[in-house]
Amino acid sequence: MTQATTPALAGMLSPWARFWLNNKGTIIGCGILVVLMIVFPFTASSTAMNIVVFAMIFALPAIGLNLLMGLAGQVSLGQAAFFAIGAYTHAIMLTKLHLPGPVAATIGVLAAMLVAFLVGLPIMRLRGHYLALATLGLGFIVMIGVREWDVTGRTTGIYGIARPTVLGVPIDNNGFFLWFLTPFVVIGLILALNLTRSRAGRALSAVNDSELAAESLGVNTYALRLKVFVLSAGFAGLGGVFYAYQVAIVSPATAEFHLSVSILLMVVIGGLGSVWGAVAGAFLVQFLGEGMRDAIPAIFPGATGEVQLLGYGIVLILVILLLPGGLHQAATSLWAKLPFPGRRPPADAHAQATEDDFTIPILPNVSTPVALGEPILEISGLTKRYGGVVAVNEVNLTVPAGTILGLIGPNGAGKTTCFNMISGALVPTSGTVTFLGQVISGRKPNVAASHGLTRTFQNLQVFTSTDVVGNVYMGRYRQGTAGVLRGMLGLQSAEQTAHRAAAYEILESMRLTDAADDSASDLSFGKQRMMEVCRALAAEPALLLLDEPMAGLSGAEREVMAELLRRLRSAGLTIVLVEHDVAQVMSLADHVAVLDDGVLIAHGDPESVRNDPAVVVAYLGTDLDEAEADLNELEEHV
Ligand code: ATP
Repeated sequence: MTQATTPALAGMLSPWARFWLNNKGTIIGCGILVVLMIVFPFTASSTAMNIVVFAMIFALPAIGLNLLMGLAGQVSLGQAAFFAIGAYTHAIMLTKLHLPGPVAATIGVLAAMLVAFLVGLPIMRLRGHYLALATLGLGFIVMIGVREWDVTGRTTGIYGIARPTVLGVPIDNNGFFLWFLTPFVVIGLILALNLTRSRAGRALSAVNDSELAAESLGVNTYALRLKVFVLSAGFAGLGGVFYAYQVAIVSPATAEFHLSVSILLMVVIGGLGSVWGAVAGAFLVQFLGEGMRDAIPAIFPGATGEVQLLGYGIVLILVILLLPGGLHQAATSLWAKLPFPGRRPPADAHAQATEDDFTIPILPNVSTPVALGEPILEISGLTKRYGGVVAVNEVNLTVPAGTILGLIGPNGAGKTTCFNMISGALVPTSGTVTFLGQVISGRKPNVAASHGLTRTFQNLQVFTSTDVVGNVYMGRYRQGTAGVLRGMLGLQSAEQTAHRAAAYEILESMRLTDAADDSASDLSFGKQRMMEVCRALAAEPALLLLDEPMAGLSGAEREVMAELLRRLRSAGLTIVLVEHDVAQVMSLADHVAVLDDGVLIAHGDPESVRNDPAVVVAYLGTDLDEAEADLNELEEHV
């Protein structure tokens, strides 16, 4: 998914050279596929031709399902339903309404997309495996529906679908059909590959890695997943259209659960998240199916389709156990083992940051939408109840622009809950959070992000499917505008180049450029935290929420982080900091708010809060004498 061209290098190249560098994998791969498909009809037997034609047809729903499962992380068990909707609608338009082929095909694809939209509208709001269950249900509804409905020809289906004619040439044999089909598969492949590399594709992968982090950077997960679900159904519908042409009959077999399993198998065998894998998986499953059709009756005399399904099930289990990343994983690990000169050795996953390689950062741009000192964040009566537990109780706070607010309190005081309600990760039971004059409480984190509020996480939320620069690049999400369509058409290269350059600049400012192309999960813990801060800053926020940014950092790293926060504040950024390191908070913050048992017990400048007996009792000890001793000890440290 990553592009190896750095912005500096890209700037020196001609547009064609840049296009070639960014797309050479796609161009070479598609070129090979096209040549193979052109040559194949001259050399292959009729059985092999049949298998290849069906592999190319099923590559379409497999590519669609792969976008949904591999990119968006949503499992669908109903791809056959959309395949059947495409096939039946196309057949009805051709045989009953006698529409021209291209019109009938377009209506077939649109019908599949419309049904996906209507099903996805409520389902995509739910998390977990509801989509799998809903699509399973849809599969059964379509399967039973086509059997029972007169329009779909009940159990006999729809006959007499004529093969198309292209430029006066009837596509009346498998060779011609393969040539007719190949451009559509190649275009589908290119669109899908473009999507995986686009702003929307990166956002989908990010959602898959950490939905919370992606939403906190402005990604509307619901809308994006819905779009990919509809798109995935469109691919399946197009597969159905070609299937109807190829077999000339559309019967209830196109809607069977068995078919959904086999498309799922193609995606899993190919490797989740790999568009090429889906195509390879489609070929493998078709050849495997043909092999099983011969082998299974020989092993189990009299065996029928259900036994073949059993065979698919066994293959699925074996792939998941032995090769969870499918053919894609096998190919990439083989590729990595090839001894090409100039390859970088893998980063040491456990490398610890040293004082030398963790230098004080230079600042990226900071935006300040309100005058310094004016309220930027206002919290009013904020309350969160969990049954009988009041985690946060009627908290009122105002944060002036260009200041650091430290939010502290003993374990279980309600800091994280409060923080999550501000950032939109939790819906308050009552009360409001107003940011830059807009009420953002009770809305999703992407709404807060769209107004300029970003955050980091106590438990790091690294996008592990991409590299370090890819993580920071995701921070630019809200600065971009390209959606799914522009991404698929590859019409966002100028935007991509600009944001990629900005991501490199931010990494440079934090002295993380050397690690830019390393896998994010290979970074040391301290650098991952710095990377998260880079990612949040890449969004050019007006307010930065930092959840325990010092946790797990070494002494030197803490100093670097503290210096960074001071510089950010000087540049005009407003910061709210949840932190257990009280000494650091006291030395950094302009104001400190103290929570105890969900109640705001003190709020003021660090000096007054430090000397507040109620704070000392709540925070450090159980009685005042003990608290005084702790207070003296604390003062020695600060
Ligand atoms: P820590 O410093 O240990 O992270 P905290 O100050 O962030 O603690 P919270 O995590 O906000 O405290 O928890 C505040 C209170 O709310 C605790 O009593 C906690 O048990 C309770 N709480 C938090 N989340 C839930 C939940 N999902 N269901 C029930 N109770 C919860």
